[in-house]
Amino acid sequence: MRLHRGQESELTPIEHIRRYQDQLAAWRRDFHAHPETGFEEHRTAALVAERLESWGIEVHRGIGRTGVVGVLRSGRGNRAVGLRADMDALDMPEANSFAHASTIPGKMHGCGHDGHTTMLLGAARYLAETRAFDGTVHFIFQPAEEGQGGAQAMIAEGLFERFPCDTVYGLHNRPGMPVGHYGIREGAMMAGCAFFDLAIRGKGGHAARPEATVDPVVCGAQVISAWQSIVGRNVAPYDTAVISVTGFEAGTAYNVIPERVALRGTVRAFRTETMRLLETRMRALATSIAAGFGATAELDFREITVPVVNSPEQAALIADAAAAMVGEPHVDRARVAAMGSEDFSYMLAERPGAYILVGNGDGPGSCEVHNPGYDFNDAAIPYGAGILAAVVEREMPQSA
Ligand SMILES: [Zn+2]
Ligand SMILES: [Zn+2]
Repeated sequence: MRLHRGQESELTPIEHIRRYQDQLAAWRRDFHAHPETGFEEHRTAALVAERLESWGIEVHRGIGRTGVVGVLRSGRGNRAVGLRADMDALDMPEANSFAHASTIPGKMHGCGHDGHTTMLLGAARYLAETRAFDGTVHFIFQPAEEGQGGAQAMIAEGLFERFPCDTVYGLHNRPGMPVGHYGIREGAMMAGCAFFDLAIRGKGGHAARPEATVDPVVCGAQVISAWQSIVGRNVAPYDTAVISVTGFEAGTAYNVIPERVALRGTVRAFRTETMRLLETRMRALATSIAAGFGATAELDFREITVPVVNSPEQAALIADAAAAMVGEPHVDRARVAAMGSEDFSYMLAERPGAYILVGNGDGPGSCEVHNPGYDFNDAAIPYGAGILAAVVEREMPQSA
């Protein structure tokens, strides 16, 4: 879509946004140096709000505690598109020593949300300047993506009632994928995630007299083994799931059989029905095995995120928008789904939309996210900002 951009009509959004690159990169490094974790993004949110207002965008603060929504209207169209970026950092120490390394001990932008925030600011500036669309854009700056429920907090505070969106789009940087490349697929793109705790209670006693006890350690070991059969025997072979037991706490003495043990771990699946199946089978096996031993087992199973599911129409639209700017060979439309999770899934559960991966390159600092040596790659900023801007022009074109 290159309508009504007058003098600029030959530039794609990526090329246009590249003109702001120095400023955007400086902002990104400033966010990186001042990481704020979930629901504490006060400085970040204030800077976001201030910049949106400086471009004439209407700003709403404090949605989902530290969330910010910008509203930009153009023309008379009544369609609306939501663009979402996450703002939070991680509770982890940074190992980098470059000038923009974290100034806050124990906190780090280890997932590149400093870059996502900057990309959405770049898209906002571009759209406010060019206004080559007909409708409303909602710029959704979300807090607390890293497992603290920031997306749900914004939705619970009426995000989509106050700022109705016909479709929503989000993105994530992807280390290892070249800068200027995109990856997406229709349908399930990232897994749903649950955490669990299992408490097994037996009867403690002297380790030399096991006949007088109900040993919860042996029972726990049987439960772990039996759970391994669920993915292999209950989940259909063409479906995908993971059950990982990551903690097993038992006694503290060499000669005491403990009264109780605690297991914990995580479960991943791409379909809600599969997640329910895993929970049902885990509970059935744990309680029946424990009963067989004369013990009891109690499973606490907590959904952390639902799967990220791209609607086919919006996945095709954003892939087409990317291909129009960087060429079809740089757009992987059948990206392999990932077992990782992302809470943008809750927004996609409310509205049709799509989530796209943006190449972060494989240079220095571009190791895997959540690694203490990670850094967002500033060269990727125009590609993330550009694709967010381009979907707006494609979803809500100006009439000729
Ligand atoms: Zn992360
Ligand atoms: Zn992330």
